Amino acid sequence: MAGGFVIDFAGKCIVVTGGNRGIGLEISRAVAKAGASVAIIYRSSRDADEVASKIGKEFSVKTKAYQCDVSDADTVNKTFSKIDDEMGPITGLVANAGVSVVKPALEMTTEDFNKVFTVNVLGVFNSARAAAKLWVDRKAQGGSVVITSSMSSQIINQVGANQPLTQIFYNSSKGAVTNLTKGLAAEWAEHKIRVNALSPGYVDTDQTAGMDEKVKKYQAENVPLKRFAKPEEMSGQAVLLLSDYASYMTGGEYVVDGGQLIW
Ligand code: NDP
Repeated sequence: MAGGFVIDFAGKCIVVTGGNRGIGLEISRAVAKAGASVAIIYRSSRDADEVASKIGKEFSVKTKAYQCDVSDADTVNKTFSKIDDEMGPITGLVANAGVSVVKPALEMTTEDFNKVFTVNVLGVFNSARAAAKLWVDRKAQGGSVVITSSMSSQIINQVGANQPLTQIFYNSSKGAVTNLTKGLAAEWAEHKIRVNALSPGYVDTDQTAGMDEKVKKYQAENVPLKRFAKPEEMSGQAVLLLSDYASYMTGGEYVVDGGQLIW
């Protein structure tokens, strides 16, 4: 068949938070491959500038890394304005930065709660609102926000050797962010801003690297596809949701989990 299914992001500018490693890095690469300029937001990694420039060279697009703690609303607003001026106009956002604290619920502290929720929920909100404010202010004809949630918004995933260790705040933050996705989608539909959640299953990244090997093996066996995902296996859904092919998709949660939620 001539033509085929083509996603062309030439002229687009997409911000990816946590875009310098893991799942976010592969999403940054995928949107760059489709022709978009990419602004990578990171917190503290030292090699983010090199990562951004390597992607730019590989796909001949404009890329730049921006250091920004997504949990700080002021910094986020300023960073998005800067990106918009330097690389924009911003047309899409992947709010992907996320963290976890793994310890038994009985040992969790308020500090642990704040650490997880200020990034996974407040950080996503800050990022999505900063993008939406720019779009609403300039009366842009829409925009797409993809939020990295997790299959653990729907189940309690087990990560430790001594069952059941659940990373309780992480799971509950992902439940919260999936619901946040729906609320933002409802409020911003009038501005033609689409908001969707991408919910990965287990993915081989730094986040899962610390898991007990026995538990990892057990969990991989539980996945119908019998393995954890590679980070690049998350990028297709993110690209689709950012694209015009997803023009009628908003407020959805799209699980990419090798079939794990079947059970
Ligand atoms: P990684 O641990 O590999 O990377 C986390 C990224 O988030 C890094 O780029 C980090 O920046 C950035 N980050 C963390 N805190 C902040 C902050 N306060 N401000 C800005 N950036 C920040 O994560 P993954 O790639 O594994 O996960 C990406 C997303 O996918 C997360 O939301 C995670 O919860 C979710 N997810 C992951 C799964 C998995 O199995 N790996 C499964 C389901 C969901 P820096 O490098 O500077 O620290």
